[in-house]
Amino acid sequence: MPEDSTRRRLRAAAFAALGTALAACSPAPRVLVLEGPTMGTTWSVKAVVPTGQPLPAGLDAEIAAQLEGLDRALSNYDPEAELSRLNRAAGGAWIPVSPDLFAVLRAARAANAWSGGAFDVTVGPLVDLWGFGPSGRHGAPPTRATLRAARARVGQALLELRDTPPAVRKARADVSIDLSAIAVGYAVDRVAEHLESRGIERYLVDIGGELRAAGASPAGGRWRIAVQRPDAPEHTVERIVLLAGGAIATSGDYRDFYERDGRRYAHVIDPRTGEPVLHGPASVSVVAPTAEEADAAATALLVLGPDAGLRVAAERGLPALFVVRGKGGPAERMTPDFATLLARAGAHGEGDR
Ligand code: FAD
Repeated sequence: MPEDSTRRRLRAAAFAALGTALAACSPAPRVLVLEGPTMGTTWSVKAVVPTGQPLPAGLDAEIAAQLEGLDRALSNYDPEAELSRLNRAAGGAWIPVSPDLFAVLRAARAANAWSGGAFDVTVGPLVDLWGFGPSGRHGAPPTRATLRAARARVGQALLELRDTPPAVRKARADVSIDLSAIAVGYAVDRVAEHLESRGIERYLVDIGGELRAAGASPAGGRWRIAVQRPDAPEHTVERIVLLAGGAIATSGDYRDFYERDGRRYAHVIDPRTGEPVLHGPASVSVVAPTAEEADAAATALLVLGPDAGLRVAAERGLPALFVVRGKGGPAERMTPDFATLLARAGAHGEGDR
């Protein structure tokens, strides 16, 4: 989708800390930095190219085309995208879908199952109703009747998937799928795969703050990823996470929200109540082998909240950090394995050399 037709969004995010600046200090290797707009936000790739190896030609255009293709399949913002067409399709009939759309829907179904319904991509009607969807903000919060009507259109059970050939069946015509909490992570993984197919083994891929890393950072250690502090100016660092590989994603309620009658309404919806998550953590960051998994898990754990969320994250072996609003400012709760990924405060650790 072209940049001028997207609403660029500030997102809860992790971001690469110091990577390029440090690369400039070390004599070798070279770091190729590519970036561009996609999916209502921006993408960037840092690829470490060994000395003596030619810079990969055409990579920029290849990634842009790959992301354009994924946007055309997975967007509910572009009315001509495959997902938007599926959302408008009749219920009751099997509708053939592309491998990418099918893969994301299958992963979403798995996330729905392990999260006990906290993650649910059929949440589209509720996202729209509360003013966080493609149609943007509107008037007052919904009445009980409109909320009840929208909730009847939501639920993973309303969506059947068939493996061969890949197809989807909606139980009702007005089921409306929103992949915003998982498709960005899926796109990060596809870009990572593409880099590897071009022989690039050390890289950091970032789409709107969902990141995936591989190999050593330009400075030779793990990649340093900054987790943003909620309710603070953009790029204020809460923590630095050291990633040797795998992905990190953050979901939060502090960028995309509005206040009405003293209540904060943010864009993550609890499908079990039909309402935006209230009294949840300000942000959740999750580390996982793939960005798709991390992306979905961050939203799911935000809905579950710190108590249930930390338990579920530990059970699934997902390192997770919850930043919770406290009287004295943000307070942290994390799984023990997330703590082992943190750079020591104030220390010049790996990646700083
Ligand atoms: P995340 O926490 O990762 O996801 C939150 C979003 O997921 C919510 O905004 C809602 O849409 C959905 N959601 C809410 N509750 C739940 C739940 N319980 N379970 C599952 N999902 C839930 N934005 C634009 O402004 N313009 C565009 O043109 C545009 N195009 C896009 C194209 C694609 C293919 C995708 C995937 C997204 C696009 N977006 C667009 C959306 C945007 O860039 C982000 O994906 C979105 O704002 C959410 O990202 P996040 O990391 O902030 O939040």
